[in-house]
This record gives sequence, structure tokens and C-alpha cells, in this order.
Amino acid sequence: MPKCIIICAPSGAGKTSITKYLLQQNLKLMFSVSACTREKRAGEENGKDYYFLTPQAFKQKIAANEFVEWEEVYTDQFYGTLKTEIERIWQQRNHVIFDVDVEGGLSLKNYFKENALTIFVKAPSIEILEARLRKRGTETEEKILKRLTKVEKEMSYADKFDVIIVNDVLENAQQKTQEVVSTFLKK
Ligand code: 5GP
Repeated sequence: MPKCIIICAPSGAGKTSITKYLLQQNLKLMFSVSACTREKRAGEENGKDYYFLTPQAFKQKIAANEFVEWEEVYTDQFYGTLKTEIERIWQQRNHVIFDVDVEGGLSLKNYFKENALTIFVKAPSIEILEARLRKRGTETEEKILKRLTKVEKEMSYADKFDVIIVNDVLENAQQKTQEVVSTFLKK
């Protein structure tokens, strides 16, 4: 039975680095490419990082019940997991790994139940998180503030997750995550 690994974290906590690391290990994991309506960042590819949709196309898919879950993660920015994406991965007999926001992660857990492991990645502190977001330099000041406002709310969800990983030193966090994931996949 294929399983799901759900990685969630406030923006800037390091979940993308951890997800990329897991994908490079021999765990038969495949990344679930979400659909979204935000603008493509430099270096991102349609179909690889996201399926970039217009708000209109996204809303049509909501109406057609094509999502397992979707969220308006930021005002006017929609993100969602397409049913076809999970089918594509399971058909290849791979496990799925999701990088979604906290509420999306809990919806996915509710959908996949014991076949899913939820992992919450925490930055050591909110100050460190803010510094990481600024260092990344991909967002405007307004967008950074939008993300930081969301962080506080997201932090309060941490104890609803199966595992909490504190990302102090990235290599250690990656190692620890790999251990819990491979134990879960062997069960
Ligand atoms: P970013 O714009 O930085 O790529 O992603 C913004 C947030 O949206 C992140 O927390 C990311 O995990 C989340 N996200 C990405 N895909 C999905 C999805 O399919 N569903 C939900 N609920 N959130 C998603």
C-alpha cells in the first residue's frame, strides 16, 4: 500500500530543503506537484515545482471537484492538491511526499488517515525565521510581512502533527527526518 509523507512548516522553516533531501534518498518517494495561482519565481518550472494556473482555471477545478484539498493560503493566492497527481504517483508504485501549508497538511491527514505521516518543521525561533525569509530575497517586504503574520497562527498547530522536527542545523534536521520517514515506510 503506498503511503504519504506530509511535510508542513511556517514559511522559511526549511521544509523545502528537507523535502528535497528526502527525495534524493532511496525511499521511493515522489513529490506531489500542487496547483497554485501565484506567480512563478525565477528558476521554477511549470509541472515540476507547481502547476501554475490562472485564478479562473483554478476555480473551475474546484467546481469540478478535482482537488483532494485546496486553500487560499494567502489572500488571492490559491494552492491545492489535485487528485490526478496522487493517482499518477501511486500508479508508479511510489509513496507521495507533500509540501503543503499547515491546514492543508491536516486535511490530507484526515483524508489518508493511518497511511499518512505528518511532520511539522519548526525554525528555532521567530527571529531566525524572519532572518531566513529576508535572506532568501524572493519576496517583497509586503509579502514577507504577510507570511510572518501567518507564522504565529501556524505555530499553534504544531502539536497536532505526528512528528515535530526543530530545524536548528539543517543537516541534523534532514537526518532526523529521514530516520522517522524510513521507519514509517517500513511499517
Ligand atoms: P510558496 O508560495 O512559498 O511556494 O508556498 C506557500 C505555501 O503554500 C507553503 O506553505 C506551501 O507549503 C503551501 N502549499 C503548496 N502547495 C499546497 C497545496 O497543494 N495545498 C496547500 N494547502 N498548501 C500548499
